[in-house]
Amino acid sequence: MPDNPALFRVPARCPFCGVSGTIVAETTISGGELSLTWCCRTCQREWPIAAEEQELERRAGNPDTRTLPRRERRAHVLETKVVEHQRLQVRTDQLKMEHAALSRDLVPFSQPDHDRHNAHLAHHQRDLKRHKKRKA
Ligand SMILES: [Zn+2]
Repeated sequence: MPDNPALFRVPARCPFCGVSGTIVAETTISGGELSLTWCCRTCQREWPIAAEEQELERRAGNPDTRTLPRRERRAHVLETKVVEHQRLQVRTDQLKMEHAALSRDLVPFSQPDHDRHNAHLAHHQRDLKRHKKRKA
């Protein structure tokens, strides 16, 4: 038996809802294949655990890449870039979702405009009340 099981770093926080510490790994076996997914218990979203996320044996045991031979070092840099790329892709997806959500909720006022508008409205409502009272 190999003594180096696959290691994955659990994401610190959910890339979708941003809550930390609620991510669990789920395994699904179908058709003789095992697939791994992260699952956020807060927002119930699932996303695949990529092979690139696997912790590298030497990184866990020896984080100082300067002691590695040049070729190993280069491989390590490439692997790091692949992981980073993966992370950015998740981040991009997350930002796209946030953008879509924001576009849906978009109000035509900026907050200061909104406050000003509300104050103005309250003023008119007071006037209207006074006017009605005078009429009555
Ligand atoms: Zn979440």
